[in-house]
Amino acid sequence: MVEDILNIKIDEYFDELVKNLQEFIKIPSVLDEEKTDESFPFGPKIDEALRWILKKGEELGLKTKNVDGYAGYVEIGNGPEMVGILGHIDVVPAGADWSVDPFEGQIKEGKLYGRGSVDDKGPIMAVLYALKAIEDSRMPVSKRARLIIGTDEETGARCIKHYLEKEEPPVCGFSPDAEFPIIHAEKGILRFELTKSFDEGPRPGANLKRIRGGTRVNVVPDYAEALIADVTLKELVSKIEEKELESKLTIEETPEGIVVKAKGISAHASYPGDGENAIQILLNFLTLIDFGGKEAKTFIDAVAGKLKMESDGKTLGISCSDEISGALTINLGVADFNEKRGSLKFDIRYPVTGDGNDIIANLKKAFDDLGAEFLINQHKMPLYVDPDTEFIKKLQNVYKKMTGDEPKLLSIGGGTYCRYVKNTVSFGPVFPGQKELAHQKDEYIVLEDLRKIVKIYVQAIYELIK
Ligand SMILES: [Zn+2]
Repeated sequence: MVEDILNIKIDEYFDELVKNLQEFIKIPSVLDEEKTDESFPFGPKIDEALRWILKKGEELGLKTKNVDGYAGYVEIGNGPEMVGILGHIDVVPAGADWSVDPFEGQIKEGKLYGRGSVDDKGPIMAVLYALKAIEDSRMPVSKRARLIIGTDEETGARCIKHYLEKEEPPVCGFSPDAEFPIIHAEKGILRFELTKSFDEGPRPGANLKRIRGGTRVNVVPDYAEALIADVTLKELVSKIEEKELESKLTIEETPEGIVVKAKGISAHASYPGDGENAIQILLNFLTLIDFGGKEAKTFIDAVAGKLKMESDGKTLGISCSDEISGALTINLGVADFNEKRGSLKFDIRYPVTGDGNDIIANLKKAFDDLGAEFLINQHKMPLYVDPDTEFIKKLQNVYKKMTGDEPKLLSIGGGTYCRYVKNTVSFGPVFPGQKELAHQKDEYIVLEDLRKIVKIYVQAIYELIK
């Protein structure tokens, strides 16, 4: 049987695959913007990793191409149509507190440790050997399979954008850079910023000196604070008590004024319901204070009034939802005010059937009367591949056959590589229920899982190109 032929090949190659993955992890392919030039746009280590993997492809007898140092590919098969598998060789920095060297590729108790082991060097190696096994088997195929190797997934996906400008797009495909079974829907991501300048100077009444909260727009902030001068402790305490906010707000007297500290619960911006937004708590509280400077006050009151403590954008007039991907979410991730200028950064995830431009128009309308600058920082369109599409059915069949598990289609709020390439879905490498190790300390891949992953990929690729 075809499956057996391919599985036997994978078992033959598995030790070599693991050894190569260890070598691959030793190249710390982290973005280095300080050392870029025309031939290596993302720094020397990423370039080294790209050259290294393409050379491996060549050594295995496969066709390869370096796409201007931005991307590369390894290809097998023949025919006019090409199926793409999208992986990346850049890794996020190691971070602290590892129990092993993150760039050593050490194996302990059946686990291969190292930055990139699961995100995404392990899966790249899995696909490379899957291609090799199909090529070796000499089974007839009617399409080409191309491992498209990105080098900037973690930062801006400039690699895949460059690839699509210069090279052939796949007719369909998958990315081994998220989880099993299959992610076929990803919400649209919209990030925007409201900025307002105030030129008020000290006025009679309370004076807002600063607001600080949050560090990243895609995280629900668990802390925010405001420094207020010319206000009494007693006044603030009575307002906190009146609104029963004692568990969420604390105050501290300093020489510059009184600091109001809001405590929330952190969560990912795509699941704001799991958290509690400290900036929203703080802004809503600040609406109770009679600030002397009216421009800052109008700004705070309007935003707090339209956001309330909601994370669905209902009062803002942008709430919507669909059956495939659920409801729109909005997160006020970062606040930064001084006496002259205030800025608020937001992250919206909207349903796959939603219209991003409509949402932008509604936001502009909602904030129209503020006199604030409205700036779109990022807009990523949603991804949606119809469940009845033939290649999805094929991936589902392979997954079911290889694991015995139900090949469910998932919808997520986060963003993967697939969003940039039409007709592609995420397919592995993390199995349902497994701990998320990407970007964590002590990232590892269980070797027996890796073997299973290669076997799933080899069958899937063969099914897609036969
Ligand atoms: Zn990744």
